[in-house]
Amino acid sequence: MKTNLKTRCSSNSLKIISENYGSEGDDEPPSSCDESEPPQCGPKSNRFKLFGAVSDADWNDWKWQFRNRITSVEQLAKYVPLTIKRFAEISAVAKTYPLSITPYYLSLMDLNNPHDPVAMQAIPAIEEITFKTTGIEDPLEENRDSVVPGLVHKYPDRVLMVLTDICPMLCRHCTRKREWKNGDWVRTPGDIEAMLNYIRNNRNVRDVIISGGDCLTLSTKHLESVISRLRQINHVEIIRIGTRFPVVLPQRIDSEFCDMLSQYGPIWMNTHFNTVNEITPESAAAIDRIVRAGVPVNNQSVLMRGINDTVEKQTKLCQGLLKIKVRPYYLFQCDEVQGTDHLRTTIDTGIKIIEGMRGFTSGLAVPNYVIDLPQGGGKVTLQPNYMLAKTEKEVLFSNYQGRVITCHNPVSEKHTEPHLQPEVPAKTPDFVFSEVRDADRVIV
Ligand code: SF4
Repeated sequence: MKTNLKTRCSSNSLKIISENYGSEGDDEPPSSCDESEPPQCGPKSNRFKLFGAVSDADWNDWKWQFRNRITSVEQLAKYVPLTIKRFAEISAVAKTYPLSITPYYLSLMDLNNPHDPVAMQAIPAIEEITFKTTGIEDPLEENRDSVVPGLVHKYPDRVLMVLTDICPMLCRHCTRKREWKNGDWVRTPGDIEAMLNYIRNNRNVRDVIISGGDCLTLSTKHLESVISRLRQINHVEIIRIGTRFPVVLPQRIDSEFCDMLSQYGPIWMNTHFNTVNEITPESAAAIDRIVRAGVPVNNQSVLMRGINDTVEKQTKLCQGLLKIKVRPYYLFQCDEVQGTDHLRTTIDTGIKIIEGMRGFTSGLAVPNYVIDLPQGGGKVTLQPNYMLAKTEKEVLFSNYQGRVITCHNPVSEKHTEPHLQPEVPAKTPDFVFSEVRDADRVIV
């Protein structure tokens, strides 16, 4: 007889279940997420198992989704099978790093799989507080680079406006976890005016990124009041919106919002899909509405252990994104944020993933792998090294298949000016090619 017990809830009350939960004959829903295909919502989805009593009108109303977020372990246990130990761990973590999951996002989880890539992004893990000493609260030093409250000016020609710290879902890997402890806040009208004044007075700012938290938690009218004032500043060429709503609450992308965006272009959107399981008919429809409003959509995913850290998973994600008209833009090395160490991978893992994608699938599907350096050092792009060696005359490459190919190096302009001639070695330094077999040398 099994003695270990797990708690879970069916309907709306907590229950104790036996340890063999998860074996054949379980009455829980099977995964709706076949990794090879986007999950399909409909009669077979977890929505109807978990939220069967919710009408279509409520389900498709983003405000209903927002109001009914799962924000406590007790609420979570109504839907997700939790052992007593895990229940206690989540309670402990939530005291430091709270949880918030939309019903829609919960419906994408395979509740029987403890390693489900959607669940891992949303459900607190004990490692968030057991690795307390590793990581940094604010690795990107955004507080240091804030020129007025909420406005980060790190790079020469662009600024980041953080309008709120509220998000519909609290991602366990979030770089701004430090903000979660400060309670929910929205920048005051005075704060926003101060940000706009800074931008008005800095003519080198041509690109403004509006983010959060998630700025789409604000009403469309509130967002419009900011965007319309930005548009009145002549030197602001583009506006970018950073949001995870298309992934975690796509119902928010309604016609009122899209109509508003269409009036103030050029606007770009950056969103944040991390796994192909997040590509659903709802998220695809939301992206379609955004694109039809004239807003190109890019994706910025975060590389995470056990979630999307293989060539196969990244390829499926990025190919799936292209199918819904989202350009895979960045694959971020997970920042050194306190409470995320268990999700971080080695940098070699990221480089190997790019190596396994480049050339094997469309270049459009290959994101830029970047690390946002600690100490506010900014982004650095990382990629496999395809250039094996170079001389004044030749450059030796390895292609994506490992084939070694030589390109002629054009004579530099400096060499056409006799007085600028650099010191040229008497002999071509063939030693740099010495380990390459002649058969591998291909002149192109
Ligand atoms: S949506 Fe972005 S800001 Fe909000 S919790 Fe997730 S990663 Fe952090």
